Amino acid sequence: MPELPEVETTVRGLARHLEGARIERVALNRPDMRFPFPEGLVQALTGARVTGLGRRAKYGLVHTDRATTLVFHLGMSGRWRIDPGACDKHDHFELDTAGHRFALCDPRRFGFVDLVDTAALARWPAFAAMGPEPLGPGLTPQHLRLAFAGRKQAIKLLLLDQRIVAGLGNIYVCEALFRARIDPRKAAGAVSARALARLVPAIREVLEQAIGDGGSTLRDFARPDGELGYFATRFAVYDREGLRCARDDGGTIRRIVQGGRSSWYCPKCQK
Ligand SMILES: [Zn+2]
Repeated sequence: MPELPEVETTVRGLARHLEGARIERVALNRPDMRFPFPEGLVQALTGARVTGLGRRAKYGLVHTDRATTLVFHLGMSGRWRIDPGACDKHDHFELDTAGHRFALCDPRRFGFVDLVDTAALARWPAFAAMGPEPLGPGLTPQHLRLAFAGRKQAIKLLLLDQRIVAGLGNIYVCEALFRARIDPRKAAGAVSARALARLVPAIREVLEQAIGDGGSTLRDFARPDGELGYFATRFAVYDREGLRCARDDGGTIRRIVQGGRSSWYCPKCQK
């Protein structure tokens, strides 16, 4: 499932070929993905020039010179293919520029696209109540201290709450808590200011490392399928149940379930 680093890598890969280009053809190969394609999407994008790309949480943004933004979400299995050799039956949405074809391929169809007035993006329903970007200036120890004050829920669960921090998913929350030496079960309101001061850079580091790993994939993405967005990165605790802690402290990585999802942590060094 694509998390923030995969979306960021996808956006950067698309930007290389799409930024500044005019969209000459738009094709919808079925009526819907997770949601129906917005009405008038083909006419709205055909002939538009892409002025820039961006990302908010796990959403990719394609801004056009018509004051509209194409928002895309990759769902569980979505990925963009650039210049795919042959059409895949899961290529649901296609954009052609003079030089390239971009196909949004999504076998499970949990992904979707929407078209939003660029000026109204911040009020788009999914964005309206979202917290700060984890890589932006809004995420500070002070922000977390205020958001967590008096909260008894486990810190792991509150870090997944998009209203507190936007775009953090299970893998990177586990990794950041390990890096900051915080027990994922600890009541958020009881986490010390000192630990929160470790957590903010830990969040940025795990995301930036993964984006870096994706970037190294991008450099050789001139594969025939041209797929963007999936790459291998190294994890310290994620999916490492029963293995020795990377800190070599005698701890063994443990898996527990919180809010219906797995958490991995080292009971020895995460307090
Ligand atoms: Zn440990």
